[in-house]
Amino acid sequence: MRYDTVIIGAGLSGLAAGARLAHYGKKILILERHYRIGGLSSFYRAGGIELDVGLHAVTNYNPTGPNSAPMARLLRRLRIKLEDLRLFPQFESRIVFPGATLRFSNDQELLESQIEAVFPGQGDNFRKLARLVDDLYSRDFESGPASARQIVSSIITEPLLVEMLFCPLMFYGCPQEDDMDFRQFALIFLSVYNEGMARPRLGIRPLLELLQSRFQAAGGELRTRCGVSHVEVVGAKAQAVVTDQGERIECDSVLSSAGLAETAAICPQIAAGPAPEPGRMSFTETIHALDAPARDFGHDFSLTFYSDEEKFFYRRPNEPVYTKSGVICLTGNFAYDQPVEKELLRHTQMADPFFWESLEKEEYKEAKREWQKQSDKALFSKVPGLEAHSRFVDMFTPSTIKKFTGHINGAVYGAPVKIKDGVTPVENLFICGTDQGYLGIVGSMVSGVGIANWHLLK
Ligand SMILES: Cc1cc2nc3c(=O)[nH]c(=O)nc-3n(C[C@H](O)[C@H](O)[C@H](O)COP(=O)(O)OP(=O)(O)OC[C@H]3O[C@@H](n4cnc5c(N)ncnc54)[C@H](O)[C@@H]3O)c2cc1C
Repeated sequence: MRYDTVIIGAGLSGLAAGARLAHYGKKILILERHYRIGGLSSFYRAGGIELDVGLHAVTNYNPTGPNSAPMARLLRRLRIKLEDLRLFPQFESRIVFPGATLRFSNDQELLESQIEAVFPGQGDNFRKLARLVDDLYSRDFESGPASARQIVSSIITEPLLVEMLFCPLMFYGCPQEDDMDFRQFALIFLSVYNEGMARPRLGIRPLLELLQSRFQAAGGELRTRCGVSHVEVVGAKAQAVVTDQGERIECDSVLSSAGLAETAAICPQIAAGPAPEPGRMSFTETIHALDAPARDFGHDFSLTFYSDEEKFFYRRPNEPVYTKSGVICLTGNFAYDQPVEKELLRHTQMADPFFWESLEKEEYKEAKREWQKQSDKALFSKVPGLEAHSRFVDMFTPSTIKKFTGHINGAVYGAPVKIKDGVTPVENLFICGTDQGYLGIVGSMVSGVGIANWHLLK
């Protein structure tokens, strides 16, 4: 049995790459260690309902944008129509800091007018920043690394506004602590503030199933519960992968979506020097199932990004959960064509993966109970009425993320340093997904398709 490409991981990047390659007649096998597809963006059942692992909103929505926009280009390459995704736009979201709130929606003018009203004199500066971001986009993000904090602070002269603009962008796609590479800042700025956000009414599962069916209909093979334990390299070339069960599968190339450090653990030859540094930014998420629409008890926002401190803290905290900031998503508050069956509130906060990993089973359970309480305390003060309307709550931690995706430290956005071209020292082993550099639901699919195009469809 020999394949053109073996893809490691059936997350969104691996599935998108597989669908693209299989469409062009390549013989592709995707191997996934978990029993379910989706990786960081999968789903599970708890309390009798289906819950998404990692879906607040899909970025880059842009339904009326040009053909060259990232979402349009991605879907064309996957032969999927935007309508097939059944996405519905956010109503309105907000950024809440001490003494200031900014509302924003998929219409960037709202954010501009809010900035003018809350930070008089900063409107022109914000437009200047938006132009700089556009300019970088028109150059396909071709530039060297640069500190986003330095660049943004040299344009926006009100420090609190700088912190507020960073908050959603860091929460939704920053692998680095304290600062962002300006290219990453620009990418997420466009995908969140310009192109906007939407949600599939039925969660992530239909998208995963669509990608899987495209892949399999084109002849691709998928095996779950089948991890790769080792990539066999001879000279500078991968010859085969060996599964956890010990099966050897020959292939002409390997595409790994597992992460760079994670791939180095099964293929040490890809790290020319010391093993690559894994990321440390991870999160807890509590999910409340509501017994009434949140609008009925006074909450009509889609997403809230908040910080109780004027300086936005973004780094691995020295405590199990950093309760002074977070993201709140009300899944019912999107402009759906019909109401959702079960409204959820999702609350994400930064967490210390080292703490969670250090615990024994019973200690872990106890810590989870305690920190869920702490996290809820912060949440209930932000969403009055929620406590009385929460019928079921579940929580996952960095250790849960690690267990189900293999990402070291449960690092959601992977390593701080990305491999933009996907190339490794093993000449036919490529990296896609989280550690290639495009992040999030749309970003990971863009990454899978991009790396497939550049290296495997020549
Ligand atoms: C709590 C949370 C909330 C999020 N919210 C959003 C959001 O609202 N919007 C958004 O756009 N993004 C969000 N994200 C991020 C988004 O989910 C990820 O960026 C995206 O799913 C990454 O996809 P990927 O394919 O690159 O990686 P992964 O999904 O990690 O896929 C890698 C796959 O490889 C498998 N694997 C690893 N090692 C092996 C091995 N040795 N053998 C076989 N298989 C292996 C893993 O099991 C996994 O399935 C969120 C993530 C989390 C955790």
